[in-house]
Amino acid sequence: MHAISEEARRIVESVIDYSRRRALWQDIPLDLPDSPERLALRASGSITRTGIGAEEALRLWDQELAPTCLSTDHPGYLSFIPSAPSKASIAFDLIVSASSIYGGSWLEGAGAVYAENEVIAWLAEEFGLPPEAGGVFVQGGTIGNLSALVAARDVARRRNAAAGRPNPSRWVVVCSAESHSSIASAASVMDIDVVGIRPGADGRLHADAVERALDEHGEAVFAVVATAGTTNFGIIDDIGGIADAVHARDVWLHVDGAYGLAGMLVEEMRPAYRGVERADSVIVDPHKWLFAPFDACALIYRDPRAALRAHTQHAEYLDTLADGGMVNPSDLAVQLTRRARGLPLWFSLATYGTEEYRSAIGYGIALARRIADEIAARPGLTLVREPQLSVVVFRVDGWASEDYGRWSERLLERQHAFVVPSSHDGEPVLRFAIVNPQTSFDLLCSILDTLVEARADRAA
Ligand SMILES: *Cc1c(COP(=O)(O)O)cnc(C)c1O
Repeated sequence: MHAISEEARRIVESVIDYSRRRALWQDIPLDLPDSPERLALRASGSITRTGIGAEEALRLWDQELAPTCLSTDHPGYLSFIPSAPSKASIAFDLIVSASSIYGGSWLEGAGAVYAENEVIAWLAEEFGLPPEAGGVFVQGGTIGNLSALVAARDVARRRNAAAGRPNPSRWVVVCSAESHSSIASAASVMDIDVVGIRPGADGRLHADAVERALDEHGEAVFAVVATAGTTNFGIIDDIGGIADAVHARDVWLHVDGAYGLAGMLVEEMRPAYRGVERADSVIVDPHKWLFAPFDACALIYRDPRAALRAHTQHAEYLDTLADGGMVNPSDLAVQLTRRARGLPLWFSLATYGTEEYRSAIGYGIALARRIADEIAARPGLTLVREPQLSVVVFRVDGWASEDYGRWSERLLERQHAFVVPSSHDGEPVLRFAIVNPQTSFDLLCSILDTLVEARADRAA
């Protein structure tokens, strides 16, 4: 047995001590980004021939680097999609790091894969998928969407091959024009075309528009993507109607619920998600609205065998992993080596139970409605659309892009909140994305107050 050195002990203790402080911090600052030039002045020269030592490196991190990284778990972080990992999930992420688990194969990580699969099975059941459904945690929604579409195209190719039919000269995926940018990114990687359909006035993609696109593009369409909670507005497409249109034609239905599918865990929201149970694949990001740390996306297939056929990598040194008939997580997506990134969510769910999750998600939905009413009632502010999930979009009457930009910068400088302007139909708008159970109605009202003040200053 080799001895653990005093130095190794000190390094581990000091890093865990820092982690303990950060994880239990009460009033975390939002912090502010800095320029590369200023960071070079503050923090350059850390990579040297003999090392600067853990103490100095940790000091650099604590005092110079960390303060320029926004705390996405701050209650006032309301842009993009915030992150609000539970204490249990953060703590367990340290165990994942400390344990050198290889999460890619059953042979190497059986217990970890088993626990991750428990979570996948629970989610699949909540989404109404059959018991044979299965999947894997990948890095994020972007890789999840890409992996699902690659599996879908593989199914279409095999079907053509079996029927002796030629493949189309260009494959087509149909989705809403409001779908996430990662669908276009996946299409570019796959060298396929995207048909982005304009949604209805309610922001939802409807079945009749999908049917017209399927008629127009025929056999070239291998998949339709429905969004369960658009990133900009939190709108859920007409998944049930789209499922009808798609299933009449043997086309794969993928549901992108990276942000919004978590809302389905709330009982009263279920009707809005009707049709998810008929999807061929779905994704939801635990690092968005399931209170897990970066980064994780649950990618679930109705029939995992289709994914295995599309994704399994073959090599002489790998083939031993395929013996024994166990499904290896690596074989279900575009990846090989993988962190057991579903474990923090597993530990957190096991710790708190599923009811806690439903109520934490329900809190965000209720808060979004309450602040939307407040916005509608305040003179000078206009609600752009009633929120369906936990994203609230509104505008300040008479403001141009520069006004929003100046206000947003000042809000962050004062460490009050992080709310960046977004846009809708070419018009600048503001957007609250609510995920964090620590975000309060009072905090949101105090942000609205600063808008009223800024308008008054501008008028003066
Ligand atoms: C965030 C998001 C994605 C991308 O997920 P990442 O984890 O950021 O890669 C895809 N689709 C939707 C609807 C999203 O909100």
